[in-house]
Amino acid sequence: MSQKILIINTGGTLSSVMKGKGLKPGLSIHDMETELQIVSGDTDIEIEDFCSLDSANIFPEDWSALAERISECRNDYDGIVVIHGTDTLAYTSSMLSFMLQNINIPVVITGSQLSIINPIADAMENCRCAIHMAASKIPGVYVAFNRKVMLGCRASKVRSLSFDAFESINYPNIASISSLGMEINKPAIPERKGIFKLSNTYSNKVCMIKMFPGIHRSFLENIAAQGYKGLYIEAYGIGGMPFLKHDFISTLDKLIQGGMTVAVGTQCVYEGSKMDVYETGKRTLEIGALEAHDMSSEAALTKLMWILGLTESTSEIRDYYSLNIAGEMTAKNYS
Ligand code: ASP
Repeated sequence: MSQKILIINTGGTLSSVMKGKGLKPGLSIHDMETELQIVSGDTDIEIEDFCSLDSANIFPEDWSALAERISECRNDYDGIVVIHGTDTLAYTSSMLSFMLQNINIPVVITGSQLSIINPIADAMENCRCAIHMAASKIPGVYVAFNRKVMLGCRASKVRSLSFDAFESINYPNIASISSLGMEINKPAIPERKGIFKLSNTYSNKVCMIKMFPGIHRSFLENIAAQGYKGLYIEAYGIGGMPFLKHDFISTLDKLIQGGMTVAVGTQCVYEGSKMDVYETGKRTLEIGALEAHDMSSEAALTKLMWILGLTESTSEIRDYYSLNIAGEMTAKNYS
């Protein structure tokens, strides 16, 4: 019997047309049905529109609603493909990895750098790869792009124009397509830890900043004054933070004492943080900041939003953040 796959459209370049002020999503999933049928092979596809947005216009409430839709229909299909704009795709795939706890089917997010109506586009190839992965019977949240499949919570958009726009950060690819077909990297597939649970609450009081030389600590005070409860900082190198001239660390200390959760990672794309090496990192750990280790920025931020939607207990937040929940963090004995 052929595999039954649901394809959910949220918009992005894949469904775009040139109109008015520029390129924007304009094709419904039904407008794309012929192309999707061509790449679906012997799978049996069903299609539906969820929204039709440039992914710059996707917000956390959309993640939550999308997770709910996937949860509702997860037992009716062998796999689900989500078509999404590439710009915020990795935030969505990271958050869905947390919200769809122990999902029992493959959920594969894809998009493209050119519209499906463009004859030289990557769109059909990416959909082909996504549908193939969705039919793999390997449960989890994935991103399919440019003939490779990545864990949803490890993918990041690293190129703005090329077809090879996404990479898996600090983690091997889950699958790739070559002349040998789709080769699955079995050891890289995270173990399912229990039964499915929809966990689609989040805190919208989380923000993210990137350190730059000259950043003033009043920036931090403003964030606290706006009522934010969580802050993810992309610090320097392996996790350094200034404490001379502008004593960023003592201002962070006050914020943490006042109840804010601060997580720190690196602005380097690869290899993660290691905050116990330099004085600039050690001092940050000593004031109670959490460490992102080898998580991508998208995962480090959405994990904080997700955890702060689950609990307000400082010790639980600390425990959850240091746990490898969906494969987003290399499991070491982080504490
Ligand atoms: N601006 C588009 C979006 O993210 C870019 C794309 O899909 O490639 O919706």
